[in-house]
Amino acid sequence: GRPLREADPEVAAAIDKELVRQESTLEMIASENFAPISVMEAQGSVLTNKYAEGYPGRRYYGGCENVDVIEQLAIDRVTALFGAEYANVQPHSGAQANAAAMAALLTPGDTILGLDLAHGGHLTHGMRLNFSGRLYTVAAYHVREDDHRVDMAEVARLAEEHRPRLIVAGWSAYPRHLDFAEFRRIADSVGAYLMVDMAHFAGLVATGLHPSPVPHAHVVTSTTHKTLGGPRGGIILATDELRKKFNSAVFPGQQGGPLEHVVAAKAVAFKLAAEPAFRERQERTLRGASILADRLLADDSRAAGVDVVSGGTDVHLVLVDLRHSELDGKQAEDRLHDIGITVNRNAVPFDPRPPMVSSGVRIGTPALAARGFGDAEFAEVADVIAHALRPDATPADLDGLDHLVSALAARFPLYPELGRSPR
Ligand code: PLP
Repeated sequence: GRPLREADPEVAAAIDKELVRQESTLEMIASENFAPISVMEAQGSVLTNKYAEGYPGRRYYGGCENVDVIEQLAIDRVTALFGAEYANVQPHSGAQANAAAMAALLTPGDTILGLDLAHGGHLTHGMRLNFSGRLYTVAAYHVREDDHRVDMAEVARLAEEHRPRLIVAGWSAYPRHLDFAEFRRIADSVGAYLMVDMAHFAGLVATGLHPSPVPHAHVVTSTTHKTLGGPRGGIILATDELRKKFNSAVFPGQQGGPLEHVVAAKAVAFKLAAEPAFRERQERTLRGASILADRLLADDSRAAGVDVVSGGTDVHLVLVDLRHSELDGKQAEDRLHDIGITVNRNAVPFDPRPPMVSSGVRIGTPALAARGFGDAEFAEVADVIAHALRPDATPADLDGLDHLVSALAARFPLYPELGRSPR
């Protein structure tokens, strides 16, 4: 057949432009990362052609001898990586993993207790318009107003009051560790299952740089593309006891044929995550986030109305609190975008502004750490961000920052292995 550039020049051109965008800007969306070339090679392979409904050794299609090897490698590697007895590597995404995990343990109408979306929870933890909010009865816990930490006393109180069948611990925008042991104690006290959604911090857990939920939770779900740095996808981890429930909830419960090209890419990512270079990268990720938090807590930023949710970070992201700034979240996101730094605006706890505007930006370091950034570069970016978030920054100031960002990006080529098409 013809190569993409000939078969579909329009799509090829947009992909080329996307590579240029990714390379020439600084990617600081906390949920994003750069998959290594080996992961993308597996994902772009002939495995996309193969139907493999079922599980290794028990398929509903012929010709599965090679995908069986691949899926078993993915399972063996991810169970070893996280010290879990059981893994399902087929969920197409984090949301699919959560849908399947909940379907395995719950009956529609059952009550779930999760972190409020407005306080850092995820859509799949009970948001009204999501499957989780439509199928299940939802109670939500919050962070405390004074220190922005999850209020475990409230979790215990709500668990007692609502008697949930499932408690969800996990987040999309929360800069601190959760107390998994205490969550489990509360779940046990009301006969609930505990599900930990480690989508955001899985890469940190894999390298021992974040407490592991695996010993505490009945089930752990995750994405594979955030800190874990693999292909877009989901996984479910649990004890052997629940194997049948989760396997049948994923297939035939939620999905048909697994994406074996993505499963192969997951297998590669799990192998890489066990290597020393991956741990070193996660260390840089964490240091980068803490350098950024410290910089945004310096006197000049405080004077400009900038604060940091919870006063710092334990993880790969910083939630900038702009409740006392003239700049709102949308303006801050746009301003950073204009100088070449990609972030997303995000509500902060007790946000007075509406969600489409919001009073925060979520800034993450995984993608830049994957690109090779170390302390010095993170300090430079942190300084650029601090300057850009001054309400009185002039167009000339921002122009100067734009140049600093371009120069920084140029020092860290992205995917040199891909070569460059003529433009
Ligand atoms: N769970 C959490 C905590 C997340 O942050 C996300 C991603 O935004 C998901 C699940 C959903 O993952 P996906 O986008 O792959 O469906």
